[in-house]
Amino acid sequence: MRQMLLGLFEGDAEASEPNRPPAPARQASAATETIVSEPPVALGDALAPARFAHPRANRAIVLGQARVAYLLRRGQRRTIGFSVGADGLTVSAPRWTTLGEIDAALREKQRWIVAKLDESRERQQRLEAARIDWREGASVPFLGEPVVLRLDPRQRHGRGGAVLDAGDGAPTLHLGLPHGATPEQLRDTTQAWLMRQARRVFTARLDHFAPRLGVRWQKLSLSSAGTRWGSASADGSIRLNWRLIHFREPTIDYVVVHELAHLREMNHGPRFWQHVQDVLPDYAELRGELRDEAVPRW
Ligand SMILES: [Zn+2]
Repeated sequence: MRQMLLGLFEGDAEASEPNRPPAPARQASAATETIVSEPPVALGDALAPARFAHPRANRAIVLGQARVAYLLRRGQRRTIGFSVGADGLTVSAPRWTTLGEIDAALREKQRWIVAKLDESRERQQRLEAARIDWREGASVPFLGEPVVLRLDPRQRHGRGGAVLDAGDGAPTLHLGLPHGATPEQLRDTTQAWLMRQARRVFTARLDHFAPRLGVRWQKLSLSSAGTRWGSASADGSIRLNWRLIHFREPTIDYVVVHELAHLREMNHGPRFWQHVQDVLPDYAELRGELRDEAVPRW
């Protein structure tokens, strides 16, 4: 079945440096959204050289202003490959490649590597800031706004239920849980409520945009895949990551429209983007916003 996927962790980028035999640089798998296009190097504080260290680093190099300690892996591959993930830089190289050749390949790609390391570090910092402490009074983003959690044992919405009070001041989510509920109970009750809201909001947005794109969607499934925001299959089924409900509606709309547009074009060619643009003229901005969002850590 033909299926298109929208990637979540664009920070986990990978590039491959041609070593032997020469081959064009491979930067991302074709089916996902990952875009790696030699962004300018973020200089950061030029007075304090950046340091990046992989926890299992076994080699180090200075790239421009940055000292980079990386994990070098040897294997049965034909090219030198670089990947930047949450841990830092990993270099995979064929057994026969000399260290001098590896250094030269790193220097040649240094702009890309340092930019990716900067991006990955910023992403980790945002994730850390977005970590939710599951207790009364904690706040959880819902449609881009913080919602404060309150324990409300007398609430009549069934055991484990929750009700949003948009009232005056900060919106409050009343959780039908006893005082002294465990962090896990708060998390599970909140997550169940968020997932119900996700289904309601996503369905409404799919119904809103499908006629505008001239498509029919058949089935919505909520995913919690750690690696993608959404996917569309040629049979009209749409999968959307329920955690999108944390973000403001225009960001959700971008993913909804993106997946619906795949029911017209199962690729990311110019006609696909034209369909997206027809209904969301500012999609490029929203797409950038989605890339910068930090999903709260659970
Ligand atoms: Zn796509």
